[in-house]
Amino acid sequence: MSTELKDALRSRRIPLTHQRLAVYQLLKKSRAHPSAETLHRQLKGRYPSLSLATVYKTLQTFEKLGLISLVNIPHAQARYDGITERHHHAICQSCGCIVDLFDARLDDLPVPAAAAGFKVTSHSVHFRGLCARCSKTSRARRKS
Ligand code: ZN
Ligand code: MN
Repeated sequence: MSTELKDALRSRRIPLTHQRLAVYQLLKKSRAHPSAETLHRQLKGRYPSLSLATVYKTLQTFEKLGLISLVNIPHAQARYDGITERHHHAICQSCGCIVDLFDARLDDLPVPAAAAGFKVTSHSVHFRGLCARCSKTSRARRKS
């Protein structure tokens, strides 16, 4: 069990329930950047009393505590990430898969001059397009 989770919850006097632990562990071992709905679907077999609202609240709490991160895709469902280290994403607009990008050049993007006076606190880069599998199937469809 994660001491990071235990310490963070204890410092806020939030009880560590089996359900919270299950959400945490599933997200930490996933590389799929699941939504709250996906996590709920995967957990409700084992935790029939677990509601979607609880999954949402738990994810929000974890995010506020810095235990997980939120992949903020405008106009799309929130997706969650067990990785809190600095990184960026490539997002497939067809199947919705999200690929992690660790790249110091993206971390160090210069703030454009047009942002003058804008105090930038953070940035993240999202590349959007088709993943390798989806671009292959769309090519195959076009040929047939
Ligand atoms: Zn795809
Ligand atoms: Mn990620």
